[in-house]
Amino acid sequence: MIVDVHTHLPTHEHNVPKKDIKKDKIYQSGKEIKLTNTIDEYIKALEPVDKAFVFGIAPRPSDPNKSLVGPKNEMEINGKNHNDIAYDLYKKFPEKIIPFMSLHPFDPNMNDEYDRATVNLKCKGIKLGANYQNFDPLSKEAFNLYHRLQKDNFPIIFHQGTSPMSDAPLKFAHPLIIDEIAIKFPKLKMILAHLGHPWHTDCISVIRKHENVWADISAQFYRPWSFWNGMRLFYEWGVLKKILFASDWPISSPKDNITGLRNLNKFTDKYNLPKIPDIDLEEIINRNALEILEINQ
Ligand SMILES: [Zn+2]
Repeated sequence: MIVDVHTHLPTHEHNVPKKDIKKDKIYQSGKEIKLTNTIDEYIKALEPVDKAFVFGIAPRPSDPNKSLVGPKNEMEINGKNHNDIAYDLYKKFPEKIIPFMSLHPFDPNMNDEYDRATVNLKCKGIKLGANYQNFDPLSKEAFNLYHRLQKDNFPIIFHQGTSPMSDAPLKFAHPLIIDEIAIKFPKLKMILAHLGHPWHTDCISVIRKHENVWADISAQFYRPWSFWNGMRLFYEWGVLKKILFASDWPISSPKDNITGLRNLNKFTDKYNLPKIPDIDLEEIINRNALEILEINQ
């Protein structure tokens, strides 16, 4: 069973008009990435995986029409928001898609949207990007949300580490913040995206001490030195077992992340570096996140 715990919503339903096509080189440090995609392209990219969590990112209440990561989602019409789109994908592909909600702790309607997303829209967890959403993850409002999530046993995927968005405060995406949350909410399941890159050591420090805190491997392989360093540190600290498979589609595909993991030791051979055992890499690819996060699907 391969579970991709980190995919973003496709931006368009059937086709991307030429005027809408958006590409950027900043995400993969030089390689051009297509940020606008159709549902078909998304589902095609998911072929190598059995299940995928999908989510948008809830906007800042002060600027509800601003898209926080990537281009605006063209499916947000007739009052549909990012949570509705995640649910629509689940309805179309119930065998594969697991919808996650996204909320903003400072949104006055947050609790109503929480109820709607978890009851009507069948969302099984939540994505938060406190840096993109510009909220303090240690604020009272955020803690009220964690309290509900822990009580209802819904996992959180936190964007962690750096990002190319200049108006997204890095201090809200630092793994050491999660330590404070996990101390207060020891049963709350949390996934730190991108191994907290480039703060791998801080991510390790947090996940090794908290039973319910995990890391996701997405978007690492295309910076091979950083990837190897991070993985070697995770190995030495005995926490490879806390890593879940993820792609961060459309920034990178499940296929490329799987290949990148399987090729990691080609890099070590080439530069005569210490290896990371292949069996551990294969375990990351096949780790059953649904069981770990107690998601029934
Ligand atoms: Zn992402």
